[in-house]
Amino acid sequence: MPTMQKITILGSTGSIGVSTLDVIARHPDRFSVFALSAHSRVEELAQQCKTFGPRFAVMPVAAASQLQIRLRELGCATSVLAGSEQLEFVAAHPDCDAVMAAIVGAAGLRPTLAAAQSGKRVLLANKEALVMAGQLFMDAVKEGGAVLLPIDSEHNAIFQSLPRNFADGFKQVGVKKIILTASGGPFRTRPISALAAVTPDEACSHPNWVMGRKISVDSATMMNKGLEVIEARWLFDAMPAQIEVVIHPQSIIHSMVEYLDGSVMAQLGNPDMRTPIAYGLGFPERIDAGVSTLDLVSAGKLEFEALDMTRFPCVQLAYDALKRGGTAAVQLNAANEVAVEAFLGHQIRFTEIADILEDVMANMMVSEAASLDEIMAADAYARTAAKIRVVERKTFSKL
Ligand code: NAD
Ligand code: MG
Repeated sequence: MPTMQKITILGSTGSIGVSTLDVIARHPDRFSVFALSAHSRVEELAQQCKTFGPRFAVMPVAAASQLQIRLRELGCATSVLAGSEQLEFVAAHPDCDAVMAAIVGAAGLRPTLAAAQSGKRVLLANKEALVMAGQLFMDAVKEGGAVLLPIDSEHNAIFQSLPRNFADGFKQVGVKKIILTASGGPFRTRPISALAAVTPDEACSHPNWVMGRKISVDSATMMNKGLEVIEARWLFDAMPAQIEVVIHPQSIIHSMVEYLDGSVMAQLGNPDMRTPIAYGLGFPERIDAGVSTLDLVSAGKLEFEALDMTRFPCVQLAYDALKRGGTAAVQLNAANEVAVEAFLGHQIRFTEIADILEDVMANMMVSEAASLDEIMAADAYARTAAKIRVVERKTFSKL
Protein backbone atom coordinates (compact mmCIF):
# COMPACT_ATOMS: atom_id res chain seq x y z
CA MET A 1 0.00 0.00 0.00
CA PRO A 2 1.54 3.39 -0.95
CA THR A 3 1.52 6.06 1.78
CA MET A 4 -1.08 8.78 1.35
CA GLN A 5 0.30 12.16 0.25
CA LYS A 6 -1.66 15.33 1.04
CA ILE A 7 -1.27 17.83 -1.78
CA THR A 8 -1.64 21.60 -1.98
CA ILE A 9 -2.18 22.95 -5.49
CA LEU A 10 -1.33 26.62 -5.89
CA GLY A 11 -3.19 27.74 -9.02
CA SER A 12 -5.58 24.80 -9.27
CA THR A 13 -7.87 26.36 -11.89
CA GLY A 14 -5.06 26.84 -14.42
CA SER A 15 -3.88 24.49 -17.12
CA ILE A 16 -1.30 22.77 -14.87
CA GLY A 17 -3.64 22.79 -11.87
CA VAL A 18 -6.42 21.03 -13.78
CA SER A 19 -3.98 18.44 -15.19
CA THR A 20 -2.67 17.82 -11.67
CA LEU A 21 -6.18 17.16 -10.37
CA ASP A 22 -6.74 14.82 -13.31
CA VAL A 23 -3.72 12.71 -12.29
CA ILE A 24 -4.67 12.85 -8.58
CA ALA A 25 -8.19 11.63 -9.37
CA ARG A 26 -6.69 8.49 -10.95
CA HIS A 27 -4.99 7.53 -7.65
CA PRO A 28 -7.37 7.99 -4.70
CA ASP A 29 -5.29 5.45 -2.74
CA ARG A 30 -2.14 7.59 -3.02
CA PHE A 31 -3.18 11.25 -2.99
CA SER A 32 -5.67 13.48 -1.23
CA VAL A 33 -6.09 17.21 -1.78
CA PHE A 34 -5.13 19.35 1.21
CA ALA A 35 -5.63 22.84 -0.28
CA LEU A 36 -6.53 24.51 -3.56
CA SER A 37 -6.10 28.11 -4.70
CA ALA A 38 -7.32 30.30 -7.54
CA HIS A 39 -7.19 33.97 -8.43
CA SER A 40 -10.55 34.73 -10.05
CA ARG A 41 -12.56 31.70 -11.18
CA VAL A 42 -14.96 31.20 -8.25
CA GLU A 43 -17.26 28.65 -9.85
CA GLU A 44 -14.41 26.45 -11.08
CA LEU A 45 -12.74 26.44 -7.69
CA ALA A 46 -16.10 25.70 -6.00
CA GLN A 47 -16.62 22.68 -8.26
CA GLN A 48 -13.07 21.46 -7.57
CA CYS A 49 -13.74 21.75 -3.83
CA LYS A 50 -16.96 19.79 -4.19
CA THR A 51 -15.17 17.00 -6.10
CA PHE A 52 -11.93 16.79 -4.10
CA GLY A 53 -13.00 18.03 -0.63
CA PRO A 54 -9.82 19.91 0.35
CA ARG A 55 -9.40 21.22 3.93
CA PHE A 56 -8.71 24.76 2.60
CA ALA A 57 -9.40 26.90 -0.48
CA VAL A 58 -7.59 30.22 -0.95
CA MET A 59 -8.72 33.22 -3.02
CA PRO A 60 -8.22 37.00 -3.00
CA VAL A 61 -10.53 38.78 -0.51
CA ALA A 62 -13.50 39.72 -2.73
CA ALA A 63 -13.57 36.39 -4.56
CA ALA A 64 -13.21 34.49 -1.28
CA SER A 65 -16.53 35.76 0.08
CA GLN A 66 -18.28 34.68 -3.15
CA LEU A 67 -16.62 31.29 -2.85
CA GLN A 68 -17.78 31.00 0.75
CA ILE A 69 -21.39 31.52 -0.32
CA ARG A 70 -21.10 29.12 -3.24
CA LEU A 71 -19.55 26.37 -1.08
CA ARG A 72 -22.36 26.71 1.43
CA GLU A 73 -24.89 26.26 -1.41
CA LEU A 74 -23.02 23.16 -2.54
CA GLY A 75 -22.87 21.76 1.00
CA CYS A 76 -19.08 21.65 0.89
CA ALA A 77 -17.15 21.79 4.21
CA THR A 78 -13.91 23.30 2.81
CA SER A 79 -12.67 26.31 4.84
CA VAL A 80 -12.17 29.44 2.75
CA LEU A 81 -9.08 31.57 3.38
CA ALA A 82 -8.68 35.07 1.92
CA GLY A 83 -5.59 36.91 0.75
CA SER A 84 -2.19 36.06 -0.70
CA GLU A 85 -0.50 35.45 2.72
CA GLN A 86 -2.79 32.46 3.08
CA LEU A 87 -1.08 30.87 0.08
CA GLU A 88 2.06 30.70 2.21
CA PHE A 89 0.02 29.26 5.09
CA VAL A 90 -1.33 26.34 3.04
CA ALA A 91 2.04 25.78 1.29
CA ALA A 92 3.91 25.51 4.59
CA HIS A 93 1.18 23.81 6.69
CA PRO A 94 2.51 20.84 8.69
CA ASP A 95 -0.31 18.59 7.43
CA CYS A 96 0.62 19.16 3.78
CA ASP A 97 3.21 16.82 2.20
CA ALA A 98 3.60 18.15 -1.33
CA VAL A 99 2.97 21.45 -3.10
CA MET A 100 2.27 21.86 -6.79
CA ALA A 101 3.50 25.37 -7.57
CA ALA A 102 1.32 26.23 -10.58
CA ILE A 103 0.55 29.93 -10.12
CA VAL A 104 1.66 31.88 -13.17
CA GLY A 105 4.25 34.63 -12.82
CA ALA A 106 5.93 36.44 -9.93
CA ALA A 107 2.81 36.01 -7.77
CA GLY A 108 3.90 32.41 -7.22
CA LEU A 109 7.27 33.24 -5.68
CA ARG A 110 6.42 33.71 -1.98
CA PRO A 111 4.26 30.61 -1.50
CA THR A 112 6.67 28.45 -3.52
CA LEU A 113 9.54 29.69 -1.38
CA ALA A 114 7.48 28.95 1.75
CA ALA A 115 6.98 25.35 0.56
CA ALA A 116 10.74 24.99 0.00
CA GLN A 117 11.62 26.47 3.38
CA SER A 118 9.27 24.12 5.17
CA GLY A 119 10.75 21.03 3.55
CA LYS A 120 7.89 19.95 1.31
CA ARG A 121 8.04 17.94 -1.85
CA VAL A 122 7.92 20.88 -4.27
CA LEU A 123 6.56 20.20 -7.74
CA LEU A 124 7.78 23.26 -9.59
CA ALA A 125 5.79 24.41 -12.62
CA ASN A 126 6.07 28.12 -11.75
CA LYS A 127 9.39 28.75 -13.51
CA GLU A 128 9.18 32.49 -12.84
CA ALA A 129 9.84 31.83 -9.12
CA LEU A 130 13.17 30.20 -9.91
CA VAL A 131 14.07 32.78 -12.56
CA MET A 132 13.55 35.55 -10.02
CA ALA A 133 15.08 34.03 -6.93
CA GLY A 134 17.42 31.31 -8.28
CA GLN A 135 20.10 31.23 -5.58
CA LEU A 136 17.75 32.14 -2.75
CA PHE A 137 15.30 29.47 -3.81
CA MET A 138 17.90 26.71 -4.18
CA ASP A 139 19.31 27.66 -0.76
CA ALA A 140 15.82 27.43 0.75
CA VAL A 141 15.37 23.96 -0.76
CA LYS A 142 18.64 22.83 0.80
CA GLU A 143 18.11 24.44 4.20
CA GLY A 144 14.46 23.35 4.42
CA GLY A 145 15.27 19.80 3.33
CA ALA A 146 12.73 20.01 0.50
CA VAL A 147 12.60 17.62 -2.46
CA LEU A 148 12.48 19.71 -5.61
CA LEU A 149 10.99 18.05 -8.69
CA PRO A 150 10.84 20.01 -11.94
CA ILE A 151 7.48 19.86 -13.73
CA ASP A 152 8.36 22.00 -16.74
CA SER A 153 8.50 19.26 -19.40
CA GLU A 154 12.06 20.09 -20.54
CA HIS A 155 13.48 20.16 -17.02
CA ASN A 156 11.57 17.06 -16.07
CA ALA A 157 13.11 15.34 -19.12
CA ILE A 158 16.58 16.50 -18.08
CA PHE A 159 15.98 15.37 -14.50
CA GLN A 160 14.99 11.94 -15.83
CA SER A 161 18.05 11.81 -18.14
CA LEU A 162 20.62 12.87 -15.51
CA PRO A 163 22.14 10.45 -13.00
CA ARG A 164 20.56 10.72 -9.52
CA ASN A 165 23.80 12.15 -8.08
CA PHE A 166 23.98 15.07 -10.55
CA ALA A 167 24.23 17.48 -7.63
CA ASP A 168 27.86 16.30 -7.20
CA GLY A 169 28.64 18.42 -10.27
CA PHE A 170 28.43 17.80 -14.01
CA LYS A 171 32.15 17.09 -14.29
CA GLN A 172 31.98 14.58 -11.46
CA VAL A 173 29.14 12.63 -13.05
CA GLY A 174 30.44 12.88 -16.63
CA VAL A 175 27.85 15.29 -18.04
CA LYS A 176 28.97 17.58 -20.86
CA LYS A 177 25.87 19.66 -21.48
CA ILE A 178 22.11 19.76 -21.44
CA ILE A 179 20.09 20.31 -24.59
CA LEU A 180 16.72 22.01 -24.18
CA THR A 181 14.34 21.32 -27.03
CA ALA A 182 11.95 24.02 -28.20
CA SER A 183 9.04 23.63 -30.60
CA GLY A 184 9.61 27.11 -32.03
CA GLY A 185 5.98 28.00 -31.25
CA PRO A 186 3.33 29.10 -33.74
CA PHE A 187 5.56 31.58 -35.62
CA ARG A 188 8.62 29.46 -36.38
CA THR A 189 8.14 29.71 -40.14
CA ARG A 190 6.07 32.92 -40.39
CA PRO A 191 7.88 35.69 -42.38
CA ILE A 192 9.54 38.00 -39.81
CA SER A 193 7.89 40.98 -41.54
CA ALA A 194 4.45 39.51 -40.69
CA LEU A 195 5.09 39.17 -36.96
CA ALA A 196 4.14 42.77 -36.08
CA ALA A 197 0.56 42.04 -37.15
CA VAL A 198 -0.12 38.81 -35.24
CA THR A 199 -3.04 38.79 -32.79
CA PRO A 200 -3.13 37.50 -29.18
CA ASP A 201 -5.32 34.57 -30.25
CA GLU A 202 -2.84 33.55 -32.96
CA ALA A 203 0.02 33.82 -30.47
CA CYS A 204 -1.90 31.64 -28.01
CA SER A 205 -2.62 28.81 -30.45
CA HIS A 206 0.43 26.65 -29.87
CA PRO A 207 0.97 23.84 -32.39
CA ASN A 208 1.65 21.10 -29.77
CA TRP A 209 0.67 22.21 -26.24
CA VAL A 210 -2.49 23.65 -24.66
CA MET A 211 -1.38 26.13 -21.97
CA GLY A 212 -2.35 29.30 -20.10
CA ARG A 213 -2.24 32.54 -22.14
CA LYS A 214 0.90 34.03 -20.56
CA ILE A 215 3.11 30.99 -21.20
CA SER A 216 1.57 30.63 -24.66
CA VAL A 217 2.70 34.14 -25.61
CA ASP A 218 6.09 33.38 -24.03
CA SER A 219 6.30 30.33 -26.27
CA ALA A 220 5.49 32.44 -29.34
CA THR A 221 8.25 34.97 -28.53
CA MET A 222 10.41 32.10 -27.22
CA MET A 223 10.94 34.05 -24.00
CA ASN A 224 9.63 30.83 -22.50
CA LYS A 225 12.81 29.09 -23.68
CA GLY A 226 14.85 31.99 -22.35
CA LEU A 227 13.21 31.61 -18.93
CA GLU A 228 13.83 27.86 -19.17
CA VAL A 229 17.55 28.41 -19.80
CA ILE A 230 17.67 30.41 -16.57
CA GLU A 231 15.54 27.79 -14.81
CA ALA A 232 17.96 25.04 -15.95
CA ARG A 233 20.93 27.04 -14.72
CA TRP A 234 19.57 26.95 -11.17
CA LEU A 235 17.89 23.55 -11.09
CA PHE A 236 20.95 21.69 -12.32
CA ASP A 237 23.73 24.08 -11.29
CA ALA A 238 24.76 24.35 -14.96
CA MET A 239 26.93 27.05 -16.49
CA PRO A 240 25.22 29.02 -19.31
CA ALA A 241 27.70 27.51 -21.80
CA GLN A 242 26.50 24.04 -20.77
CA ILE A 243 22.90 24.83 -21.76
CA GLU A 244 22.05 24.59 -25.43
CA VAL A 245 18.72 25.18 -27.17
CA VAL A 246 17.69 23.29 -30.28
CA ILE A 247 14.45 23.62 -32.23
CA HIS A 248 12.47 20.39 -32.45
CA PRO A 249 9.07 21.20 -33.98
CA GLN A 250 7.35 17.90 -33.05
CA SER A 251 7.82 18.27 -29.23
CA ILE A 252 8.32 14.49 -28.88
CA ILE A 253 11.82 14.67 -27.40
CA HIS A 254 11.29 16.82 -24.32
CA SER A 255 15.03 17.51 -23.78
CA MET A 256 18.38 15.72 -23.63
CA VAL A 257 21.62 15.32 -21.69
CA GLU A 258 24.96 14.80 -23.42
CA TYR A 259 27.67 12.86 -21.57
CA LEU A 260 31.45 13.07 -21.91
CA ASP A 261 31.59 9.73 -23.75
CA GLY A 262 29.30 11.01 -26.52
CA SER A 263 26.13 9.36 -25.21
CA VAL A 264 23.00 11.47 -25.41
CA MET A 265 20.10 10.53 -23.11
CA ALA A 266 16.66 11.82 -24.02
CA GLN A 267 13.16 11.56 -22.60
CA LEU A 268 10.37 11.14 -25.16
CA GLY A 269 6.62 11.15 -24.92
CA ASN A 270 3.45 12.70 -26.24
CA PRO A 271 3.25 16.41 -25.43
CA ASP A 272 0.99 16.06 -22.38
CA MET A 273 1.87 17.76 -19.08
CA ARG A 274 0.29 14.91 -17.13
CA THR A 275 3.50 12.90 -17.77
CA PRO A 276 5.86 15.22 -15.84
CA ILE A 277 3.12 15.88 -13.26
CA ALA A 278 2.65 12.15 -12.61
CA TYR A 279 6.42 11.73 -12.46
CA GLY A 280 6.63 14.42 -9.77
CA LEU A 281 3.68 13.08 -7.79
CA GLY A 282 4.81 9.46 -7.90
CA PHE A 283 8.60 9.93 -7.62
CA PRO A 284 10.54 7.71 -7.27
CA GLU A 285 7.78 5.36 -8.44
CA ARG A 286 6.08 5.52 -11.85
CA ILE A 287 2.31 5.89 -11.86
CA ASP A 288 -0.38 6.00 -14.55
CA ALA A 289 -0.90 9.52 -15.94
CA GLY A 290 -3.76 8.84 -18.35
CA VAL A 291 -1.43 9.75 -21.24
CA SER A 292 -1.81 7.86 -24.52
CA THR A 293 1.04 5.67 -25.79
CA LEU A 294 3.60 7.40 -27.96
CA ASP A 295 3.10 6.06 -31.47
CA LEU A 296 6.53 6.51 -33.03
CA VAL A 297 5.42 5.26 -36.42
CA SER A 298 2.65 7.81 -36.76
CA ALA A 299 4.91 10.50 -35.28
CA GLY A 300 7.16 9.73 -38.27
CA LYS A 301 9.94 12.29 -38.53
CA LEU A 302 11.72 13.94 -35.62
CA GLU A 303 13.32 17.12 -36.96
CA PHE A 304 15.87 19.55 -35.50
CA GLU A 305 16.89 23.08 -36.46
CA ALA A 306 19.26 25.70 -35.12
CA LEU A 307 17.68 28.51 -33.10
CA ASP A 308 17.49 31.79 -35.04
CA MET A 309 18.25 34.56 -32.52
CA THR A 310 17.19 37.27 -35.02
CA ARG A 311 13.69 35.83 -35.16
CA PHE A 312 13.69 35.13 -31.41
CA PRO A 313 15.74 37.88 -29.69
CA CYS A 314 14.20 37.06 -26.29
CA VAL A 315 16.36 33.94 -25.93
CA GLN A 316 19.50 36.05 -26.30
CA LEU A 317 18.13 38.49 -23.69
CA ALA A 318 17.84 35.60 -21.23
CA TYR A 319 21.42 34.47 -21.84
CA ASP A 320 22.52 38.10 -21.41
CA ALA A 321 20.61 38.35 -18.12
CA LEU A 322 22.33 35.20 -16.86
CA LYS A 323 25.69 36.68 -17.77
CA ARG A 324 24.91 39.92 -15.95
CA GLY A 325 23.73 37.98 -12.90
CA GLY A 326 22.17 39.53 -9.77
CA THR A 327 18.72 40.96 -10.35
CA ALA A 328 19.01 41.03 -14.17
CA ALA A 329 16.77 37.96 -14.56
CA VAL A 330 14.25 39.40 -12.06
CA GLN A 331 14.00 42.52 -14.18
CA LEU A 332 13.73 40.64 -17.45
CA ASN A 333 10.96 38.48 -16.01
CA ALA A 334 9.04 41.44 -14.55
CA ALA A 335 9.29 43.51 -17.74
CA ASN A 336 8.18 40.46 -19.72
CA GLU A 337 5.07 39.98 -17.55
CA VAL A 338 4.09 43.62 -18.16
CA ALA A 339 4.78 43.47 -21.90
CA VAL A 340 2.89 40.18 -22.37
CA GLU A 341 -0.12 41.54 -20.50
CA ALA A 342 -0.04 44.68 -22.64
CA PHE A 343 0.10 42.56 -25.80
CA LEU A 344 -2.78 40.36 -24.59
CA GLY A 345 -4.72 43.58 -23.86
CA HIS A 346 -4.12 44.83 -27.43
CA GLN A 347 -2.00 47.73 -26.19
CA ILE A 348 1.22 46.87 -28.02
CA ARG A 349 2.21 44.81 -31.04
CA PHE A 350 3.71 41.33 -30.73
CA THR A 351 7.17 42.48 -31.86
CA GLU A 352 7.12 45.29 -29.31
CA ILE A 353 7.37 42.75 -26.50
CA ALA A 354 11.03 42.09 -27.39
CA ASP A 355 11.62 45.81 -28.16
CA ILE A 356 10.42 46.80 -24.69
CA LEU A 357 12.50 44.11 -23.00
CA GLU A 358 15.63 45.17 -24.88
CA ASP A 359 15.01 48.78 -23.97
CA VAL A 360 14.32 48.06 -20.27
CA MET A 361 17.36 45.78 -19.94
CA ALA A 362 19.69 48.24 -21.70
CA ASN A 363 18.75 50.98 -19.22
CA MET A 364 18.56 49.01 -16.00
CA MET A 365 20.89 48.99 -13.01
CA VAL A 366 21.45 45.51 -11.68
CA SER A 367 21.96 44.71 -7.98
CA GLU A 368 22.90 41.58 -6.09
CA ALA A 369 19.60 39.70 -5.49
CA ALA A 370 20.74 38.72 -1.98
CA SER A 371 17.35 39.03 -0.26
CA LEU A 372 13.69 38.66 -1.11
CA ASP A 373 13.17 42.38 -0.44
CA GLU A 374 15.87 43.27 -2.95
CA ILE A 375 14.34 40.92 -5.50
CA MET A 376 10.85 42.34 -5.03
CA ALA A 377 12.22 45.91 -5.29
CA ALA A 378 13.98 45.06 -8.58
CA ASP A 379 10.77 43.42 -9.80
CA ALA A 380 8.71 46.54 -8.99
CA TYR A 381 11.26 48.85 -10.59
CA ALA A 382 11.36 46.89 -13.85
CA ARG A 383 7.55 46.68 -13.93
CA THR A 384 7.32 50.47 -13.72
CA ALA A 385 9.99 50.90 -16.40
CA ALA A 386 8.15 48.50 -18.72
CA LYS A 387 4.76 50.14 -18.04
CA ILE A 388 6.19 53.54 -19.00
CA ARG A 389 7.39 52.06 -22.28
CA VAL A 390 3.99 50.50 -22.93
CA VAL A 391 2.34 53.89 -22.44
CA GLU A 392 4.90 55.59 -24.72
CA ARG A 393 4.25 53.04 -27.43
CA LYS A 394 0.49 53.31 -27.11
CA THR A 395 0.82 57.07 -27.62
CA PHE A 396 3.13 56.68 -30.61
CA SER A 397 0.95 54.09 -32.29
CA LYS A 398 -1.98 56.51 -32.23
CA LEU A 399 0.00 59.25 -34.04
P1 NAD B 1 -2.77 29.41 -16.22
O1 NAD B 1 -2.87 30.83 -16.59
O2 NAD B 1 -3.59 28.40 -16.95
O3 NAD B 1 -3.12 29.25 -14.65
C1 NAD B 1 -2.55 30.08 -13.69
C2 NAD B 1 -3.11 29.79 -12.30
O4 NAD B 1 -2.55 30.75 -11.41
C3 NAD B 1 -4.62 29.90 -12.18
O5 NAD B 1 -5.11 28.93 -11.28
C4 NAD B 1 -4.82 31.31 -11.57
O6 NAD B 1 -5.99 31.38 -10.77
C5 NAD B 1 -3.57 31.47 -10.73
N1 NAD B 1 -3.15 32.88 -10.62
C6 NAD B 1 -2.99 33.75 -11.65
N2 NAD B 1 -2.58 34.96 -11.17
C7 NAD B 1 -2.48 34.83 -9.83
C8 NAD B 1 -2.13 35.73 -8.78
N3 NAD B 1 -1.79 37.01 -9.02
N4 NAD B 1 -2.14 35.26 -7.51
C9 NAD B 1 -2.50 33.99 -7.24
N5 NAD B 1 -2.84 33.09 -8.20
C10 NAD B 1 -2.83 33.51 -9.48
O7 NAD B 1 -1.22 29.02 -16.29
P2 NAD B 1 -0.55 27.60 -16.57
O8 NAD B 1 -0.39 27.41 -18.03
O9 NAD B 1 -1.22 26.55 -15.77
O10 NAD B 1 0.92 27.85 -16.00
C11 NAD B 1 1.19 27.87 -14.61
C12 NAD B 1 2.69 27.90 -14.40
O11 NAD B 1 3.25 26.70 -14.90
C13 NAD B 1 3.40 29.05 -15.14
O12 NAD B 1 4.45 29.52 -14.37
C14 NAD B 1 3.94 28.37 -16.40
O13 NAD B 1 5.12 28.99 -16.88
C15 NAD B 1 4.25 26.98 -15.87
N6 NAD B 1 4.21 25.94 -16.91
C16 NAD B 1 3.05 25.68 -17.57
C17 NAD B 1 3.02 24.71 -18.57
C18 NAD B 1 1.75 24.36 -19.30
O14 NAD B 1 1.75 23.44 -20.12
N7 NAD B 1 0.64 25.05 -19.07
C19 NAD B 1 4.20 24.02 -18.89
C20 NAD B 1 5.36 24.31 -18.18
C21 NAD B 1 5.36 25.28 -17.19
MG1 MG C 1 8.60 24.00 -20.87
